[in-house]
Amino acid sequence: MLEIVPINTENIKLQQLKLGTEKAIEIDVLRLDLIHPIISGNKWYKLRFYLEDAIKNNCSEIASFGGAYSNHIVAMACACFEKKIKNVGFIRGDEIYPLSETLQSAKDFGMELHFINRLDYKNKNALIETNQKEGRYWIPEGGYGILGAKGAATMLESVHLQNYQYLVAAIGSGTMVAGLLNASLTHQKVIGISSQKNNSRLVTEISALVAPQNMGRFQFLSDYHFGGFAKHPDQLLAFMRDFWIRESIPTDIVYTSKLFYAMTDLVQKDFFKKGDRVLVIHSGGLQGNRSLPKNTLPF
Ligand SMILES: *Cc1c(COP(=O)(O)O)cnc(C)c1O
Repeated sequence: MLEIVPINTENIKLQQLKLGTEKAIEIDVLRLDLIHPIISGNKWYKLRFYLEDAIKNNCSEIASFGGAYSNHIVAMACACFEKKIKNVGFIRGDEIYPLSETLQSAKDFGMELHFINRLDYKNKNALIETNQKEGRYWIPEGGYGILGAKGAATMLESVHLQNYQYLVAAIGSGTMVAGLLNASLTHQKVIGISSQKNNSRLVTEISALVAPQNMGRFQFLSDYHFGGFAKHPDQLLAFMRDFWIRESIPTDIVYTSKLFYAMTDLVQKDFFKKGDRVLVIHSGGLQGNRSLPKNTLPF
């Protein structure tokens, strides 16, 4: 059964990596994965202003989309549970039992699930039109949008931001890096590590959420996707185990494993210089590892 634990941002800590120390580079990890055992990471931040907006507009219900392992769906279910708002998830694919652990958790939090075949799922506008109801507030897939980016920027509230030359984060929809870019200071670079293979549209989608004068600070790295979105070959799993042993930090198979792999590679290739201080966002997502066979990972 579901353990109802509230989200607690006081659990967040900064953890300095051993990685980089021998080259006199300081790499601090913002451990957003610690806010909740299931709703770890950035999704809760991306949702917060959408929920505020829905409440302000007297909406009676929240709706959004996602796949069977979606961090966004389970985070939305939890956030709505905490705020006591009725919510519906439109889920890509057939209704298959047993449900994925992600969907089971969402359901346990009280989300109503609607399964949509893959073809119909592709056209979000048509899907919204067909399923529109009075008082239903739609959150874009993955929380992509201005309000999502505004929420993501608040992840940095507990950090002494001016200390860093670089901010580094994983990219899915790009909403989080958009928020980081908007919050970043003029001396900083924001590096985004793409978790997807086909990402030609991403930079455009990110720039749609970022003030133009901030885009020049963005650096997009697209060579660390390990075969594509959610692909997790043995080499990546081996890295995750190794990283856990070296740094005591658990990572997820979709985003943060690729992020920290990239960091390891960049340090090795002298991308950063002596004295640099780097802030890496651990955006969570650990619940997604429940799709792996038991005991695949030591955490
Ligand atoms: C969704 C997600 C991301 C990507 O965030 P975007 O705002 O979609 O780019 C990164 N890490 C984790 C753990 C996520 O769940």
